[in-house]
Order: sequence, then structure tokens, then C-alpha cells
Amino acid sequence: MDRLAIVVPCYNEEEVLKIASSTLRGVLDDLVHKEKISADSFILFVDDGSRDRTWELIEEEHRLYPVQVSGVKLAGNVGHQYALTAGLLTAKDMSDVTVSIDADLQDDVAVIEEMIDRYHAGNDIVYGVRKERKTDSFFKRTTAQGFYRLMRLMGVNIVYNHADFRLMSKRAVEEFSKYREANLFLRGMIPLIGYQTDCVYYDRRERVAGESKYPLKKMLSLAFNGISSFSVRPISLITGAGIFIIILAFLAAVYALVSYLTGHVVQGWTSLILSIWFLGGMQLIAIGLVGQYIGKIYLEVKGRPRYNIEKIVTYTAEKEENR
Ligand code: UDP
Ligand code: MG
Repeated sequence: MDRLAIVVPCYNEEEVLKIASSTLRGVLDDLVHKEKISADSFILFVDDGSRDRTWELIEEEHRLYPVQVSGVKLAGNVGHQYALTAGLLTAKDMSDVTVSIDADLQDDVAVIEEMIDRYHAGNDIVYGVRKERKTDSFFKRTTAQGFYRLMRLMGVNIVYNHADFRLMSKRAVEEFSKYREANLFLRGMIPLIGYQTDCVYYDRRERVAGESKYPLKKMLSLAFNGISSFSVRPISLITGAGIFIIILAFLAAVYALVSYLTGHVVQGWTSLILSIWFLGGMQLIAIGLVGQYIGKIYLEVKGRPRYNIEKIVTYTAEKEENR
């Protein structure tokens, strides 16, 4: 039977830690009872350099429930995406399948069972997707939706309305560990892995306690990081703008020459206006061109795996298996 690790990043979550622990232990007990996961399945809390009592509480939980609760303490606050990655990579060697979830239990723990079912049905990645955003403020809802639209526009493939509540099989996490880039944006990276995936749907709730650890500033930086780590399309936009301006320059040239010939202009205006348009366009194109190379270098530097083989069928492999 498969050993499940529930990975929970925590930053200053002393108010919710005990509640999260008991709720998730309840989920584990239930799944073990239903014989869907092995009895040594566990929760892995990742303390992301909290300044409150979060780590002490994690240790306490581990003492009380040594099998079910484990903990990783990061030396400093590195942010949600990094803390989650630390948790996944630590859990990888101790489990067969992982589920990541926030400590505040805004995501519905009841669908973890469904995720496991989808996993047993052959999916390597199962995304938790929220149905509606009733509990979010108007502001958070519109900014978040704008964010998903912008990402799509920039050519980043992400699952709509999916945050970081997801199941990943061991081999999916192993594949993920080959992405050695320093700027992490998991929602963009996970779909690159491939494999068979599925979604489960749930309603997102209010935080059980405490307040959001994602203020506007962190949200904006996540959004910008998402775009700049995944897309070199902004660079192409510059080149595009340059070409557009050059076309305008020709129109401006016609206009300026006509004005010149009909004699309605101040001396020197025609040559000035032509240079401004033409040089402006050329400069943008040149910057865009340089940018294209920087974009290529950027993608090379990431050193992402170029492909991920899911299965091989060959004559010899089949013979081996039939033996
Ligand atoms: N978190 C973290 N490091 C940070 C900020 C947040 O590990 O620097 C964790 C936090 O403890 C929570 C999850 O990331 O488990 C999501 O944060 P939060 O619920 O505050 O975000 P929101 O739901 O408000 O977007
Ligand atoms: Mg939350």
C-alpha cells in the first residue's frame, strides 16, 4: 500500500498548527482505515523560519504522534514556494505519494480522499481546483482572476483557479526535482512535468485562524516572478512595438513630406520628425533583438530537463517483463 506524505508549509502559524495537525491526522486515520494508504503515512510540517511558536508546536506534535507528524525546520524565511519545495523534496524519499496543502485549512481536506482515488486510477498529478471564490474579498478575487488571465496571455500554462493544493506521485516529484532553477513558481513548473493528470473541485473556505501571510506585496512579487520565470514574451512584445513604430514612421514620413511640399511647416521640422520616428522604431527593434538573445540565455541557464520519458516499449523490455 502507498505511503502518503501531506506536506504543509507554515509561516507564523501558531494559531492554526494544532487544528491543522488534528484535522489532517483525522484524514490520515480515515484513509488508513479505508485501506487507501499505508499505516505509516504522515504529515510533514515545514517551518518556514517562523518567529512565533510554530516550530515548538511542531516538535510537540511530533512527540505526541511520532509516526503521524514529522517536521522540517528551515533556517530562515524563504517564502511559501521554497518552503513547499523543501517539503516535497524531503518527503520524496520517505513516501510514495505527496499531497501539499496550506496550514490554514482553506482548502477542503475532504477532497484528499478523492485525490488518492484519482492517483490509484493512474494519475501522477491531481490538481485541487476551487469552484468559486465566494469567501475571498472582491479585491482578492478580481486581482487573482486578472493574474490567471495575464499568465495565459503571456503564454504560461497554468491550471485556472488552482493554487498549491495538489497531489504528486513519487515519480512526479522526482521529475520535478530535476528542475534546478532558482526562481520557483510551482504552478507553472508542475504542468511542464507531463504525465497523466486530473483535477478535483472544492470550495475554498475562510482561514481557520490567524491572518493571511500573503500580503499584496508578496502576491505581486509572486505574479511578477511567475511571468518573468516562465515567459520571454515581454521581450517579443518590445520587438513587436519596434516594428509597429517603424510602420508608423513611414506613415509619418508621408504626412511630413506632404506638409513640407505644401509649405505649411517650420524649417527643420520635417527632418526632425522623420528622425524621431525612424530612430525610435529602430532603437526598440534593436533592444528587442538583444532581448531575444538574453531570453535565450535565460532559458539555457535554467537548465531544465528537455524531456521526460514516461514509458518505453521495446522488444527487449517486453521480453524482460514476461520472464
Ligand atoms: N507561507 C510560508 N511562507 C511564507 C508565507 C506563507 O510558508 O513566507 C505559508 C503559510 O503558512 C500558509 C501558506 O503558505 O500555509 C499560504 O499562506 P496564506 O494562507 O497566508 O496565503 P493566502 O491563503 O492568504 O493567499
Ligand atoms: Mg490561506
